[in-house]
Amino acid sequence: MSHYFLVLLIVSASFGSLGCYFQPKITELDSQELNEINEEFPIDGFGYSSDIGILERGQVQANESLYVLLNEMGISQQVIRQVSNELKQSVGFRFLKENQIYYRYRLHNSTPEAHYAPILIIMESNIRFVKVDVTDGILVQASAKPIEIRFRQVEGLIESSLYESLISQGHSAGVGMELSELFAWQIDFFRLYRGDKYRAIYEEFISEGEVVGVGRVLAAEFVHQNRPYQAFYYEDGQQQGYYDAEGNGIQKALLKAPFKYNQRISSSFNYNRFHPVLKQRIPHTGTDYAAPLGTPVIAVGDGEIIESRYRGVNGNIVQIQHNGMYKTAYLHLNGFGPGIKKGVQVKQGQVIGYVGRTGRVTGVHLHYTLYKNNDPVNSVTVELPSQESLAVSARDAFFLEVQKYSYLLGQGGLVLATNIDLNDVGKNS
Ligand SMILES: [Zn+2]
Repeated sequence: MSHYFLVLLIVSASFGSLGCYFQPKITELDSQELNEINEEFPIDGFGYSSDIGILERGQVQANESLYVLLNEMGISQQVIRQVSNELKQSVGFRFLKENQIYYRYRLHNSTPEAHYAPILIIMESNIRFVKVDVTDGILVQASAKPIEIRFRQVEGLIESSLYESLISQGHSAGVGMELSELFAWQIDFFRLYRGDKYRAIYEEFISEGEVVGVGRVLAAEFVHQNRPYQAFYYEDGQQQGYYDAEGNGIQKALLKAPFKYNQRISSSFNYNRFHPVLKQRIPHTGTDYAAPLGTPVIAVGDGEIIESRYRGVNGNIVQIQHNGMYKTAYLHLNGFGPGIKKGVQVKQGQVIGYVGRTGRVTGVHLHYTLYKNNDPVNSVTVELPSQESLAVSARDAFFLEVQKYSYLLGQGGLVLATNIDLNDVGKNS
């Protein structure tokens, strides 16, 4: 029972609501009948009892399609066609992908004609799945397995990497991702030092006894080059976010768009865009703003100018590195803002250039790209960190949380209860 296992919470409802949940279209299960089964057989994560058959896991091969799998299960062509349509219309599912995981129930008394129950479960993630059930009519449903959340505590010393340190202790690499996002504004996770230390309390998602994901980090401390950085998660009805022990927001803001005033989007982030100039399908990994020629373009956040020059099809380009995680690029500029050149530090809102039509373009616009870990992401839809500090009215409640978590972080391996009583905990240690 060393650093872990604090408390178990069952949260089956919350994940169910993540995916779109569709009621059966043609048949409905008789609730009376379901209750009877329930008493005798345990219900699995897909909502079936073990008397149906033995659950078999499969992985989609290159030559396998939805048709192949359903056909193997003895389902008629006509029904397969209906299932395909239903999948497309009600859950937006089109094709099986190679290596995608699926489950079927092998019948206890399989015959040469029927090996499987007419149920196919297609996994979309570790937790979310699409269910096809043609036992009685056609049922197509997007759903999710029930999830338990347990709280875990980890602490470690960086010897080779954060990843190694976590894995060697039986923690998920996902914790490292969460930590690097959390401290992205304080620490460059590409340049950790040997001897850096960390400790954290985080949520782990469990489904049917298996770890299926990492949730939120609730409290963490990272000592980087002998400087401690702390982060405490806090939420109430009004606010949520990560704060230092004094209640200052630790995640700086990035503006949603690089303009002082709202500008019209002329082309959105789209991996399948048909390029108007090249007349072929080329991913558009940024957002185009149809702003008038000469409109000032501003830095979406503090950072360092890492590029400011004319670069071929991009025209005049400026790139800003905001921290170890976020970078932004501004293309086709008419010209650069005052003092903007490589190596210069800029502040959020500072003018870095002007909208233009340089490079390969059909007209005046700004092409703006936000990169997260060097991958372009849709700046319009991505969730960005916010800078707000904690409201004064929330401070008392927040400091109580800080006190609780600071205590726990200092007690590796402590057993934590949900409604923790600080006096009580002291006696356990
Ligand atoms: Zn563009």
